[in-house]
Amino acid sequence: MTIFTKIVNGEIPCNKVLENDEFLAFHDINPKAPIHILIIPKKEYKCFQEVDSQIMCKMTDFIKEVATHLGLDKTGYRLITNNGENGGQEVMHLHFHLLGGAKLKWDHQSDSNSKEFF
Ligand code: AMP
Repeated sequence: MTIFTKIVNGEIPCNKVLENDEFLAFHDINPKAPIHILIIPKKEYKCFQEVDSQIMCKMTDFIKEVATHLGLDKTGYRLITNNGENGGQEVMHLHFHLLGGAKLKWDHQSDSNSKEFF
C-alpha cells in the first residue's frame, strides 16, 4: 500500500483541496511553489506509463477543476508527473504536481549532455 493510499483511506492526514469518488487533490507537504497541489487517482496506478487512457480522460477533467477552484486557470500553472527512476518519481502511486501562485522558473538539470539524444 502506498503512502497516498493511506491518505485516501484516512490513515494519514492531508490538507485536502478537492475530491470526488475517483480522485483526490491535496497540498504537497514540501511545496516547491507558493501553490503546490498533488492530484491522485484514489485507485493505485504505479505511474503515468501504467494508467489507462480512460482514467486519464476523467483525471484531466478533475485536474482542470482543481486549477479552476484555485484560480490557476486565470494566472497559469505547471503540471508535472514524474515517471519512474529517471523522472525522479519517489512515490509509486500516480500523481500530478500542480504548481502555481508565481511565475515559475524552468530549471531541469541532469548529468548527461542532452545533445546525445538527438
Ligand atoms: P514524486 O517525487 O513525484 O514522487 O513526488 C512525491 C511528492 O509527494 C513530493 O513532492 C513529496 O513532498 C510529496 N509527499 C510525500 N508524502 C506526502 C504527504 N504525506 N503529504 C503530502 N505530500 C507528500
